Amino acid sequence: MIIVLPESTAATDINKLTAIFGHHRDVFTHRNRISIAGISIDQLPAAIRQNALEIITDVPAAIQSSRLLHPENEVIRLPHTTIGDGSLAIMAGPCSVESEEHVRKMAAVAKQGGATVLRGGAFKPRTSPYSFQGLGEAGLKFLREAADEQGMDVITEVMDDEHVPMVAQYTDIIQIGSRNMQNFSLLKAVGKTNIPVALKRGMSATVDDWLNAAEYIAAEGNHQIMLVERGIRTFDNTHTRNTFDAGAIAVLRQLTPFPIIADPSHATGDRSLVGPVGLAGIAAGADGLIVEIHDHPEQALSDGPQALTPAMFQQLAKKSLAMHNLMNNFEEVDA
Ligand code: PEP
Ligand code: MN
Repeated sequence: MIIVLPESTAATDINKLTAIFGHHRDVFTHRNRISIAGISIDQLPAAIRQNALEIITDVPAAIQSSRLLHPENEVIRLPHTTIGDGSLAIMAGPCSVESEEHVRKMAAVAKQGGATVLRGGAFKPRTSPYSFQGLGEAGLKFLREAADEQGMDVITEVMDDEHVPMVAQYTDIIQIGSRNMQNFSLLKAVGKTNIPVALKRGMSATVDDWLNAAEYIAAEGNHQIMLVERGIRTFDNTHTRNTFDAGAIAVLRQLTPFPIIADPSHATGDRSLVGPVGLAGIAAGADGLIVEIHDHPEQALSDGPQALTPAMFQQLAKKSLAMHNLMNNFEEVDA
């Protein structure tokens, strides 16, 4: 809710009015405006109601991604996974769905390591038009069946607005890839569904660009959004494919109620770096981890160099849970 007071209201008066709410509510003031989270108009003290020029309860969607008006975490509940409730969600699978047999095998590996979400691309956004583009709808069927066989949820990418209804039939989470983070018609299309969306950070997107992209989805009514940090382009991407921005994860935890997922596979491009960087993401506050796995990475149809072997994945999953426990076993101290 936003309360608009007369321009002439003194800052000290605004402070007196907001002090009524104590410290347990998110109250934000900006000049003659006060925004208050989680309160209905009839709970407003008479002093505020009488002084207000206007009380806006129909707050624009532009505030959905802000803790200002949504202090509580947005918790996403899937059949086999809960994201954002304080637990750690583990998502794993091949970069691309390569065949029915292969994705079934990878689903078993993912499940064994403790993953509850199976990843796999059937529509691949490749930098080169000559690279493997994915199996399309056939790949989605294989992915869904493999996940169902293991009792897992599915995450997969959608690249075009017109594919949204079709992909929606097969998946539990719709992934928007980095290259499409600001494809506004696609964001609106997934915002009209009621399927959770994993919004990957654009390679050159600031945190604010990213949150605004999330707003495009939220503005259509779908608030089940998770933000995936997958690394950004910086001046030094010689030893890593991208630069993993762990700081952004810590910042987002403060700014937004949406869950945050760390993707160290695309951030590093190198399987030997996926573990340490993923653990850094969890230490920074990520609610989940998404990684690529392959039993024969040298034969992978995409992103082989960053694919974890099954043994590496099992170990990282264990360390991830240990890191998550470590980070959550201390009382927070007020800043
Ligand atoms: C992927 O998840 O396989 C992918 C293409 O990721 P990104 O959009 O982050 O490059
Ligand atoms: Mn990939």
